[in-house]
Amino acid sequence: MRLNEINKVTGSYNSREKMPVLFLGHGSPMNAIEENVFVTGWRNIGKTLPKPNAILCVSAHWETRGTCVTAMDKPMTIHDFGGFPEALYEVEYPAPGSPDLAKETKSIIKKTAVVLDDKWGLDHGSWSVIKNLYPEADVPVIQLSLDYYQSPQYHYELAKELSSLRKKGVLIIGSGNIVHNLGLVNWGKIDEPGFGYDWAVEANEKIKKCILSNDHKTLIDYKSQGRELNLAIPTPDHFLPLLYSLALKEENEIVDVFNDMAVGGSLSMTSIKIGKD
Ligand code: ZN
Repeated sequence: MRLNEINKVTGSYNSREKMPVLFLGHGSPMNAIEENVFVTGWRNIGKTLPKPNAILCVSAHWETRGTCVTAMDKPMTIHDFGGFPEALYEVEYPAPGSPDLAKETKSIIKKTAVVLDDKWGLDHGSWSVIKNLYPEADVPVIQLSLDYYQSPQYHYELAKELSSLRKKGVLIIGSGNIVHNLGLVNWGKIDEPGFGYDWAVEANEKIKKCILSNDHKTLIDYKSQGRELNLAIPTPDHFLPLLYSLALKEENEIVDVFNDMAVGGSLSMTSIKIGKD
């Protein structure tokens, strides 16, 4: 199915405006099946969006050499985690893929030769959040991988090349966590939303301030910002999806911050929506 045909099928997207862009702090995979304040936050933001023709998700959990895009008709639900209750492994999210959107994504990215992938699927960085936005699994979803050999600046520039998809009704979602230090998580307090170490709260505030003042340069240069950000971002995987979302922000667009809360001491669920309803 071509993109313009998808448009006809859903018939719900007004192509005069750009689709908003999301960054979602995904946290624990259990958010896929639990009821909590974060899930409510995702659902509420979902209600403010026009129904997209398709979703392109950049998940923290798909790192590759080079850049890949999922191009299969039916992406499988990947349970890429261990030690969780059986019920979580039984969750399937049967959203269709979109080989045509994958091909279009490959064609608009000039920075590198994007590989059309037929082996991945939807990892929990995608399905655990998208399931809460679109429980009917009726919106096609593709994923774009993170090339772990590249710099934050490279990712930011590559993300800008995705901009034209917004006008085609594609909802672009970065899925990660802006404060994400799993080694320091206090598992005894993981079910207490709002519990954050001082450095985690400070890092979250600093990153949020940069987001709201359009200071993307500081965020691209996050490794040079001192102790709090070094503790918050020990590896780039969960932070880079934020740079993808921010790169797509136009100068005059508004940013809504939601789910702005620490969890487990060393994680934050802070999420953003870029652009009008
Ligand atoms: Zn994660």
